[in-house]
Amino acid sequence: MTLSLLRCMECGNTHQLDDPVYVCGKCGGLLDVEHDLDTLRPTISRALFDSRLGSLDAPYSSGVWRYKELVFPEADESAIVTRGEGNTTLYRAPAKLAAWVGSERLALKHEGENPTGSFKDRGMTGGVTHAVMVEASGVVCASTGNTSASMASYAALAGLRGLVFFPYGNIAMGKLAQSVAYGAISVQVKGDFDASLALVRQACREFGIYLLNSVNPFRLEGQKTIVFEILQQRRWKVPDWIVLPGGNLGNVSAFGKGLKELLDLGLIDRMPRIAVIQAAGAAPFYQSYREGFAERHTVKANTIATAIKIGNPASYIKARRTLQWTDGIVEIVTDQEIIDAKAQVDKSGIGCEPASAASVAGIKKLIASGVIKPADDVVGILTGHVLKDPGIVIDYHQGTLDGLQSTYANALRTIEPTLADVQALLNEEKVPTR
Ligand SMILES: *Cc1c(COP(=O)(O)O)cnc(C)c1O
Ligand SMILES: [Zn+2]
Repeated sequence: MTLSLLRCMECGNTHQLDDPVYVCGKCGGLLDVEHDLDTLRPTISRALFDSRLGSLDAPYSSGVWRYKELVFPEADESAIVTRGEGNTTLYRAPAKLAAWVGSERLALKHEGENPTGSFKDRGMTGGVTHAVMVEASGVVCASTGNTSASMASYAALAGLRGLVFFPYGNIAMGKLAQSVAYGAISVQVKGDFDASLALVRQACREFGIYLLNSVNPFRLEGQKTIVFEILQQRRWKVPDWIVLPGGNLGNVSAFGKGLKELLDLGLIDRMPRIAVIQAAGAAPFYQSYREGFAERHTVKANTIATAIKIGNPASYIKARRTLQWTDGIVEIVTDQEIIDAKAQVDKSGIGCEPASAASVAGIKKLIASGVIKPADDVVGILTGHVLKDPGIVIDYHQGTLDGLQSTYANALRTIEPTLADVQALLNEEKVPTR
């Protein structure tokens, strides 16, 4: 008996889970992992998932595998490649930050607290576990940086050869450093992310390497545990809104699927609304949304938030489905709004990378326009860690970002090693002294 199968979203063709495929063998369409919820129903409960909180034993100590019955029910426990991912903090937004955003009930789920510093680890533990299951010899991805950092780590852990393709000269230093450090073969492609992904997908078909981009449905199964964990941390109380940045749209696709499963199983009683935030210079999904999804758009992407600098999102149809299921919306924010929101999240003590701040900038904009009410119960997703992109932090606070204002700059100072200089500094900054 099989509890899960792969179904093509375009033609309905099905594959078994141990087939070494990640797109439809017939038409090349996106595959969905379909779990037999009716068979699983008697074993799944809030109590089961709650009983694993605080577990000391892998894999159930992981914030992904705690929900194994809904992620990969038939995975052999001993074959699971895990770093104990998930279990990230759901912060109540500090008062100053909440006031800046205009929200009375803002929480932030910090996925930058994952092992390699982004939510990509939740998907990667699923994807690499499947790669091991189908005895892949090596794994590959195209990446704006975080997918590669994560894949490099999990491939190393599993003893698999990892190969990553970056868009040339357009990757944040923290992410590049991780990929190289974890031992992946790291390659710059003389083109943008969309060109890199197209190349990698072709190479996978041609050379039979295992693809770990988010078209891989097992990645989305892991990523959907972000919403499972949010709900569990809230004692299964559904928020009014969940707001996240959208690039390749894998994450929003995963959120919709996960929420739908919880609703079908009766673990939640209603859907939250989802708001996807795109950078104004990389907003093909927003364009389609504005036109009622009459057309699928592609753009030449341009934004300071490299993790969402994507012009041809691979998970378009799955993301559209999420919006239908959740009465969802799409909004855009400028790079200036992103970088200012980042400065506010950073100085609140929480910190995040630029793409993550699109969530917060988006919430602020949607509250200002009246779509989200100040009293609405809102959860924003912070997707990556503040140290992922140190270059942008320093440039912002030094006032050297091209074409952007450093609205909340905290300039680095230099002084002579004298008490007089210290005193002058204290006076200037109005630091209380004895
Ligand atoms: C990958 C990533 C995103 C975009 O997620 P998609 O699933 O591609 O829409 C946003 N922020 C960060 C930090 C990421 O690493
Ligand atoms: Zn198909």
